[in-house]
Amino acid sequence: MPESPLPPGSTIGILGGGQLGRMLAVAASRLGLRSHIYSDEAGAPAFDVAAASTVGSYADQDALERFAGAVDVVTCEFENVPAATLEACARVMPVFPGPKSFAVAQDRLAEKDFIGALGIEVAPHLAIDRLDQLKAGLARIKPPALLKTRRLGYDGKGQVMIRDKAEAEAAWRGIGEVPAVLEGLVLFEREISIIAVRGRDGAFKAYDLTENVHQNGILAISRVPAPNSLALLAEATFIAKTIADALGHVGVLAVEMFQRADSARPGLVVNEIAPRVHNSGHWTLDACATSQFENHIRAIAGWPLGETARHSDAVMTNLIGADVEKWLSLAAEPSTCLHLYGKAEARAGRKMGHVTRLYPKT
Ligand code: AMP
Repeated sequence: MPESPLPPGSTIGILGGGQLGRMLAVAASRLGLRSHIYSDEAGAPAFDVAAASTVGSYADQDALERFAGAVDVVTCEFENVPAATLEACARVMPVFPGPKSFAVAQDRLAEKDFIGALGIEVAPHLAIDRLDQLKAGLARIKPPALLKTRRLGYDGKGQVMIRDKAEAEAAWRGIGEVPAVLEGLVLFEREISIIAVRGRDGAFKAYDLTENVHQNGILAISRVPAPNSLALLAEATFIAKTIADALGHVGVLAVEMFQRADSARPGLVVNEIAPRVHNSGHWTLDACATSQFENHIRAIAGWPLGETARHSDAVMTNLIGADVEKWLSLAAEPSTCLHLYGKAEARAGRKMGHVTRLYPKT
């Protein structure tokens, strides 16, 4: 581990070339740092804003080692990076966050068990490796319930709702007969998230609570502050800090939670974590002095963490697919910050950009 902070002029290596990598590279450049993006996709959105780029396979150990040798620290903008990819880079250069953060976040069972063992509430769940286990499991976790693949699920993909035990076989086939978790439904009032950051020295900061609305399994809108959330902020911050400390996490950590719809037992249930900058933290670009992207760069570069206080209220709306066609009218809206990701093709369901509308701080 490099002991001293990386000075301006150093190069941040970023695995992944999507919009998150792009916004990380822009944040790094503001601090006088350079970025080198490694992506398996030619023409990735982050290449436009980076000092250097490599197109290579995440399985190409030689190319990864060359990449890591050309930078001063390595990070990652997506959570499903193969462990062997991180190991190849780590042979040459420090990688932040470390392998534990990715191992836990990549496997829904490991994630729920790890977080549950910290005394933090997660949805009731069972490991499912075979159809007969699923049928037996539905006697303990009664439908309606969710069957989710352990790995490679995101934006509502890799999961099936089971409304009746007769649907077990179809659900098992539906997720591709792969290792899974059966999850009890949490009756929630709303979905919220907290974006936190932990430095190499263990320093910790968190942003305000965000209320999130999903459409078709994809984040549509994030509102901050989450209305009536003052009492929840301490609980959410404690949850994020407990998880980040237990992982020895370095960088931004996002924690997605449900707020129970149960007046007898109010409070938060953790759904999942992301060991990276997160879509529900994009508002920090425009409503805070230091964004989640800059704080991630600061953390992995060994710099002091920046201020996480909010100077404005904000509503972030994703521009998905054809939404991006409204760019010109959005650019003319007052108090609206437009962010476009430079993607050529506006396919349905593809995140093309976002807008953050700012309001006076309440
Ligand atoms: P996930 O892929 O785990 O993020 O789930 C996608 C969405 O499904 C979440 O944002 C929730 O709206 C919903 N969901 C997932 N798990 C549960 C659960 N245990 N109870 C209720 N809703 C859930």
